[in-house]
Amino acid sequence: MTDDLSNLFDNNRRWATETEAREPGFFSRLLQQQTPQYLWIGCADSRVPANELVDLLPGELFVHRNVANVLVHSDLNALSVIQYAVDALQVRHIIVVGHSNCGGVRAALTNARAGLVDNWLRHVQDVRDAHEGFLAGLDVSLQVDALVELNVLEQSRNVCRTTVVRDAWQRGQQVVVHGWVYGLHNGLLEDLRITVGGPDDVGLAYDTALALVKQRYRQAQAAL
Ligand SMILES: [Zn+2]
Repeated sequence: MTDDLSNLFDNNRRWATETEAREPGFFSRLLQQQTPQYLWIGCADSRVPANELVDLLPGELFVHRNVANVLVHSDLNALSVIQYAVDALQVRHIIVVGHSNCGGVRAALTNARAGLVDNWLRHVQDVRDAHEGFLAGLDVSLQVDALVELNVLEQSRNVCRTTVVRDAWQRGQQVVVHGWVYGLHNGLLEDLRITVGGPDDVGLAYDTALALVKQRYRQAQAAL
């Protein structure tokens, strides 16, 4: 194994040159401002690169990633990202994105011990425990992806409940919260249809999206 990371610098120089050649003035324009319309809250998994899979350039997507795309009410890091995105950058959409076969969710589901991260994944276990009966009715092969989707719904609702988003809605700022899931197997995003544009929509959007997730997995279970 080599400690030489020169290949990354080579790649970087080539990327910068190609980007500037394709769009002259690209970097000097970005220097002036960033005006992303979207905040992406996703998993840290290396197979889910936010910008690439929605084909957006630097400057177009504000990104926060952590293990298993969790949004905890006391996480000052994530809350600061949301606050800057909403208040300063005025993003129009906040998208929580889970992904199939998530290692963090799998560990949470199966009580696998990995160290400090177990404490973080306890939040996903809370989601698991809240839907224990539903998950128990599914085959093991379906449980991870089902919990991935339940976790997206839960974390999306948490975003809606932050003071930042509540305050934005109260002052009439347009911010829409979405929950999506990304398929590692096919590279496609799917909308879980928890789409919330105001405080009065949270409950119904969550309940409707939850019913859809449950219906889909029960059908998958029946088809096994
Ligand atoms: Zn993951």
